[in-house]
Amino acid sequence: MSEVGATAPLGILGGTFDPVHKGHLQLAADACKKLELGQILWIPSANPPHRDQPGTPAAQRLAMVALAIRRQTQFVLDDCEVRRNEPSYTVVTLEDLRSRHGNQRPLVLLLGIDAFLGLHTWHRWRELFSLAHIAVATRPGFSLQADDMAPELHVEFEKRLDPAVKTLATQAAGSIVPFAITPVDVSASDVRHRLSKGEKVANLLPDAVLDYIAANHLYAQN
Ligand code: ATP
Repeated sequence: MSEVGATAPLGILGGTFDPVHKGHLQLAADACKKLELGQILWIPSANPPHRDQPGTPAAQRLAMVALAIRRQTQFVLDDCEVRRNEPSYTVVTLEDLRSRHGNQRPLVLLLGIDAFLGLHTWHRWRELFSLAHIAVATRPGFSLQADDMAPELHVEFEKRLDPAVKTLATQAAGSIVPFAITPVDVSASDVRHRLSKGEKVANLLPDAVLDYIAANHLYAQN
């Protein structure tokens, strides 16, 4: 086996996780299985530059992810973005992971399709492809259509599209690999909205996260 293939690809799932929900867990579970990943690093962002700042402190978002993934040995919480005292640029996180894991380890950045369609607005976005593969999960209400992509993103998509999962293990970075996930129709904003109105969200979040939210009076829980 080549040096690159000797270690299974490392998945990376970034997000605000405010709160972490079953859509994130389904994405990670399907990615692990279908993309044959060795592990997935869950990396909560501190100050995401592309969107509104999360209302919940990073320490509590980290705690909720830790509870959500505690029984899955392939899922690992990584607080590198929270420890850096600067905007949470993914390109910087991937550079950090490259320095920690070396140039040969395949890295696979996992994105929901909505996140992928905004990729061309990310800081130094073209450099992401020299640092990692990008695996794009389809999500309810979104599909991977050329018409939906900005022209510059479409150029990269055409150039890098590779439906072969084995590429993820044989090269360290550079491909775009779409993969289908079991749809779970939930978003963190919807969860926050429902909780603020006192509605039930029991089926959308892991029990341990529900308990944490209640105990810490998050999202206007009194
Ligand atoms: P918000 O509603 O606050 O924008 P979110 O639910 O989209 O939050 P994030 O933490 O922003 O969650 O998302 C992290 C990653 O998870 C992104 O790549 C996003 O596309 C993906 N994701 C979020 N919800 C789902 C879902 N239900 N199914 C699959 N992927 C999802």
